[in-house]
Amino acid sequence: MTSRDWAPRGAGTDPAGAPASAGGHAGEPGEPGEPGDGTVAGGEAGGGGANPAGGDTAGGGPGIAGAGSAGGLAAAMIARSGTPEAAWQAWPDLGAWPELDPPVAADVPAALVVAPHPDDEVLGVGGLMALLRRAGVPVTVLAVTDGDASHPGSRTVTPERLVGLRAEERRAALAELGLADVAVHRLGVPDGVAAAHERLVADEITRRLDDGMWCLATYAEDGHPDHEATGRAAAAAAARTGATLLEFPVWTWHWAVPGDARVPWHRARRVPLPAELAAAKRRAASRFVTQIMPLSPAPEDVAPVPPPVLARLLRASETIFWPDR
Ligand SMILES: [Zn+2]
Repeated sequence: MTSRDWAPRGAGTDPAGAPASAGGHAGEPGEPGEPGDGTVAGGEAGGGGANPAGGDTAGGGPGIAGAGSAGGLAAAMIARSGTPEAAWQAWPDLGAWPELDPPVAADVPAALVVAPHPDDEVLGVGGLMALLRRAGVPVTVLAVTDGDASHPGSRTVTPERLVGLRAEERRAALAELGLADVAVHRLGVPDGVAAAHERLVADEITRRLDDGMWCLATYAEDGHPDHEATGRAAAAAAARTGATLLEFPVWTWHWAVPGDARVPWHRARRVPLPAELAAAKRRAASRFVTQIMPLSPAPEDVAPVPPPVLARLLRASETIFWPDR
């Protein structure tokens, strides 16, 4: 869900007190190149359900260059909480969108969930993934980045260590949703610069889609550059294959406001979650320890997904944008 070197779309236009900086990127994504740039990595490393505690003290990892002013700005923005969940809950439209129709169709041959970062799939559509699975629909995850840029400048955890920790967190979170055996294919694109690899991502999505499949991907105007690149790549792949693209907003809830004219609310569909599934999703979210808890008191170790951000993603129903037809 996160790399911190970015500024949400529309920042400064939010009367609810969201970030006051200009929109666009806060600075260079600034990550050192990852090995296997753009190549398809194997399956998940580690697996297993154990969720390592946060506060990893890998030590010795040099801070990431470029976490200076841009990083400071990003941290300051993250400290602000965007449009509060209470404001969304007070908006009548939120509960008035039509339900996904067909709700979760057993005649969907398979679903591919494309996640820019490890946690976007669970926080965005973890409930829908579980419902699909319960309906007998095979579900697969395509992980665009490994989320290595969530803590730029941290002296507590290195980007390399984050890759392993976040993969384990995702595995544990999926298990909470009854999705322990879902395959996760990692592309290993460097966190923060997915747009530079958009063609490769589109090709990788394309070869995993087929006519009639559902492709769940982050909304192409979600405000985070990796989320948007993922959404665009998924749209291209869906157009090539005849798959149905279901876009899910993540950071939109942060920068947008109820009734925001920049958001395609007319395409919004609700996916109500049974109470037990909503509870499972809350447990799943609690597994993303590196994202929801500060790693240390240092400013570089703030939680990228603090409680006000998480609250918007743990509603009793999920939201997707259905294609215009
Ligand atoms: Zn993300």
